[in-house]
Amino acid sequence: NARVLSGRPVAAAIQSQLSADIDELLRQGKKRQLLIVAATDDPSSASYVRTLQRFGGQTGVTVTVADLGPDASEIDIRTVLETASADENVHGIILQTPLPDGASISGLGSAIAVEKDVDGANPASLTRLLAGEACFAPATAAAVVELLDHYEVGLAGRPISVVGRSLVVGKPLLHLLLNRDATVTVAHSRTADLAAATGTAAVVVAAAGRAGLIRAAHVAQGSVVIDVGTNFDDAGALVGDVEAGSVGAVAAALSPVPGGVGAVTTALLFRNTVYGLPDPSGSPSLPAAAGAVL
Ligand code: NAD
Repeated sequence: NARVLSGRPVAAAIQSQLSADIDELLRQGKKRQLLIVAATDDPSSASYVRTLQRFGGQTGVTVTVADLGPDASEIDIRTVLETASADENVHGIILQTPLPDGASISGLGSAIAVEKDVDGANPASLTRLLAGEACFAPATAAAVVELLDHYEVGLAGRPISVVGRSLVVGKPLLHLLLNRDATVTVAHSRTADLAAATGTAAVVVAAAGRAGLIRAAHVAQGSVVIDVGTNFDDAGALVGDVEAGSVGAVAAALSPVPGGVGAVTTALLFRNTVYGLPDPSGSPSLPAAAGAVL
């Protein structure tokens, strides 16, 4: 049976490093603040905000929520993002989805200063990712690489298949993996033969948002499978894209949902907020966030 690649020890390692460094910063009178901008009454957004508040409380990072309500206009949201971008007391900015009708994440993301864009929502952050410049990649994509690194899964030169091509997961992950010298295949909803795209990969990352999409026939014997999908089954339980029972019998290792990349994503948002982008001109006063320099 496949080894379980849990996200919890990965997140815990990041959190303990952060807590130590935050203590030192607070001793120097330097606070770190993450601002979450929400314009929705979606319960899963509210639940995620609570997760972030809890993590902030445990690590000593101030988490502030600007709750603009579901009727906020695009201009209201943009104003809050621009004000926070210029506020030296704010170090990280996250814009929650869903957004009100008529507002788009890519349109509003450009109002987040790239050095505070801890979830890679600004198209300029994606441009930097493509160019191999210092940037914050979308945290879920970065969390996949972090998890693979933690468990010492080799990337360079190896065939890796990503299922999903969204701007928040699949496409940034393609570039993060390319920057690590992997040989990447990206499958998507129009892929004619999914099993052909995934079945010879050493690592398969499932980020399609389709419960049960990846089954034993889609993965190679001895491969590593990372589930990113978050779906709800008929009973309302959180499930991933991977049929864990059958895939676990074929793969060497499987990162599950829940219990996989989700916790790592949260930890990375805080790491980005605390350390910021590495200073291109010299030695950072704190260890640079691994994964930020691409
Ligand atoms: P999305 O809906 O924007 O994109 C889904 C992608 O999957 C598309 O590119 C589409 O082409 C592809 N796809 C859909 N059906 C497919 C099929 N049958 N075969 C192959 N490809 C198919 O979703 P997203 O924002 O990229 O998120 C993907 C999943 O990851 C969702 O379940 C989402 O909830 C989850 N997610 C998890 C986290 C986390 O922290 N755990 C964060 C973000 C997203």
